Amino acid sequence: INPNNIEFMYSAMDPSQYPDGNMKEIALSGRSNVGKSSFINAVCGRKDIARTSSKPGKTATLNFYDVDSQFIFVDVPGYGYARQSKTSREKWGQLIESYLAEREELQAVVQLVDLRHKPTQDDILMYDFLKHLEIPVILICTKSDKIAKSKVQKHLKVVRETLEVEPEDIIIDFSAVDKKNLPKVYEALSNYV
Ligand code: GDP
Repeated sequence: INPNNIEFMYSAMDPSQYPDGNMKEIALSGRSNVGKSSFINAVCGRKDIARTSSKPGKTATLNFYDVDSQFIFVDVPGYGYARQSKTSREKWGQLIESYLAEREELQAVVQLVDLRHKPTQDDILMYDFLKHLEIPVILICTKSDKIAKSKVQKHLKVVRETLEVEPEDIIIDFSAVDKKNLPKVYEALSNYV
């Protein structure tokens, strides 16, 4: 698989718009601003494939990216906007929940959390939901460049303990700035595609 060979396919607002379904899918989920777009761009060696810092209040869509015609990245809209209206939060919930719960092509979810901070209630809810559905999770702890090297293990421990990360799930400290652990990310993804 050549992750540099990535192409935006389309956005979907409901299941009738999902791709045909002969490729495996890996979804990416995380709080807004966690570094999800930066992660996708880093993995794919591009600067611009995923828009960074999309603004709150945007219509919730699932964005599908073809990766070397080998698998599909599904960018799930960021969760955790306190200011989001109730209706748009409900729409978000329905779209994501039905995708995660029902999509047979889904192999694993990359859940991103900010390594600097203790995972939030939203992070915990999302992780619990994924585990309830028995979906394998690759936990990416972002912005590791912002933490002193000597403190990374301590922060990873906080993430592991707060989310009660299951032993079979992979957890990786990552930085889109210095591309820390990018080979580990590829290795983790290759388990599922
Ligand atoms: P998204 O909303 O989850 O897609 O987050 P973005 O990728 O747009 O990132 C949000 C902000 O965090 C931007 O200002 C990024 O430049 C910054 N950011 C993302 N990843 C990293 C990282 O690994 N290190 C640092 N220092 N900043 C990052």
